[in-house]
Amino acid sequence: MNPELEKILMQVQKPSRYTGGELNSVVKDKSKVDVRFAFCFPDEYSVGMSHLGMKILYSLINSRDNYWCERVFAPWTDFEALMREKGILLYGLESFDPLTEFDIIGFTMQYELSYTNVLNMLDLGGIPVLAKDRTQLKGLVVAGGPCVCNPEPLADFIDVFILGEGEEVTLEWMDLYAQAKREGWTKDAFLRAACKIEGVYVPSLYDISYHDDGTIAAVTPREGAPAKVRKRVVADLDGMYLPENFVVPYTETVHDRAVVEVLRGCIRGCRFCQAGFICRPFRQRSIGSIRQQSQSLCESTGYEEISLSSLSTSDYTEIEQLLSDLTDYTEGEKINLSLPSLRIDNFSQEVLDKIKKVRKSGLTFAPEAGTQRLRDVINKNVTEDEVMTSCRIAFEGGYTAVKLYFMLGLPTETMEDVEGIAQLAQRIVDMYYGMENRPKGKAVSVSISASSFVPKPFTPFQFEPQDTMEQIVEKQKRLVASIRSRKISCSWHDVHVSVLEGILARGDRRLGAAIYKAWKDKGCRLDSWDEVFRFDAWMEAFAECGIDTAFYANRRRSYDEILPWDHLDYYIRKDFLIREDEKAHEAATTPNCRQQCSGCGARLEGGVYCG
Ligand code: SF4
Repeated sequence: MNPELEKILMQVQKPSRYTGGELNSVVKDKSKVDVRFAFCFPDEYSVGMSHLGMKILYSLINSRDNYWCERVFAPWTDFEALMREKGILLYGLESFDPLTEFDIIGFTMQYELSYTNVLNMLDLGGIPVLAKDRTQLKGLVVAGGPCVCNPEPLADFIDVFILGEGEEVTLEWMDLYAQAKREGWTKDAFLRAACKIEGVYVPSLYDISYHDDGTIAAVTPREGAPAKVRKRVVADLDGMYLPENFVVPYTETVHDRAVVEVLRGCIRGCRFCQAGFICRPFRQRSIGSIRQQSQSLCESTGYEEISLSSLSTSDYTEIEQLLSDLTDYTEGEKINLSLPSLRIDNFSQEVLDKIKKVRKSGLTFAPEAGTQRLRDVINKNVTEDEVMTSCRIAFEGGYTAVKLYFMLGLPTETMEDVEGIAQLAQRIVDMYYGMENRPKGKAVSVSISASSFVPKPFTPFQFEPQDTMEQIVEKQKRLVASIRSRKISCSWHDVHVSVLEGILARGDRRLGAAIYKAWKDKGCRLDSWDEVFRFDAWMEAFAECGIDTAFYANRRRSYDEILPWDHLDYYIRKDFLIREDEKAHEAATTPNCRQQCSGCGARLEGGVYCG
């Protein structure tokens, strides 16, 4: 680290975010590597260091001797100000070299509110923000992650999007890059060759035209780019690359624990859930592989907690056997085991017994909607009886605090559904006080967390209008007014955040100008942080760019409209999404994939097990 940087770091909050040198971080001799990759997480260190995908790809790329992957995070505002004042460029935490020294700058896009951070990080690293201003092969900017299932708002800034699961495709396109670098190809030549790899989307090779009403008229590929770009999927999770160690931060992060993925995809089909659709088909790892990785991660990191990660861990077909095998190991080593993603309907006494040993605090459930009608609309196949039974089991097990997650603004929602949230919470409170065997001398606490629904691409609700800010605020007020007990508390996310997320999530390329303006002229960055987020500045940017935000957020799409992401293939058929949206309006449910296949399109050729 250079002495000037060292001096500056003495003046900022939490300097350990910027110093690198953590256990298991990888330092290589740069004269001996062929390709240098800056893996950028477009948010602050403590968030990025908790992200599993980054850990996996960091290890995967570094598993190749001739490639070197480093980590880069968004600096907090105090450090950014000093960097700009002193002319310090954003750097990789392993080498302290600025982004200008890297061949590839890769971003993982986890949420829409990190878009301005991408621009800011490129700029701070000395890299031109607009793709058209980067003419060399060196400094190629790529992006992957869940948000790139609609990458169009970022099309002006990113050279290459990677669709789907990175383990499958990263080394393949990096090998092509290495060849291009070795043989002196131009950037254009590389892009034309890269777009032939399945899962690689090069936005500059597609022309978009629009109708007078602002909807898309056509998406036209050029120079041999495919008409549809299909995401990549790992067919066999046991056969994929698995990291055996993680970088261990010096400073506290959001999740200080070993995270072990147990399955991918989801059998459920909740109609609001983007991850549930874009991560299909359902695949799970073997118990042996999960146990072996859990053990090696704990040994190499010193972590004393393992978290089993997935969209719905209790859908693992052998969950009880898995927990039994893992607790054999964790109890012996005094390691905690946590399962963050439990579904309410299969929350059994056995599962509770297993997790009770390690989780003494409250339990969380996500009924998502307060009435059965609305739960049927969203295909959350959970009945009130199941909610009550799960809470009763939890109370009998000694728990006295339950947190319930709901969404406001779901399609077809009425004020009756909103009041239903408070009524459900009240019935849980009443049940507790009606139980003879309730924990003695302890009051119950039911907290309602109500977020605002944001329609997302590749879900049946991609066609639906989002509630306006005024509608959501009215529903929030009605919810609070419906709560009758002091044992029930209620909280929600800032509605402004959901409004912006709603505009960006289903946006097209024309939003690029507003994202640029919001960052460059209005100073927007770190938008997912309440203390930095400036909604008014964003709205000014949209207005100054002539963008009607209601067109993106609050408009119903017709089923035959060309959507900005229709040329991307996440295996989910549009006719299936239309069918599901129609069923939602009839409050008709769809069985889960284990009960019956609904033909969503995710069953892979060769027949990956997905039920
Ligand atoms: S193909 Fe059938 S079983 Fe597989 S994810 Fe789709 S609906 Fe479920």
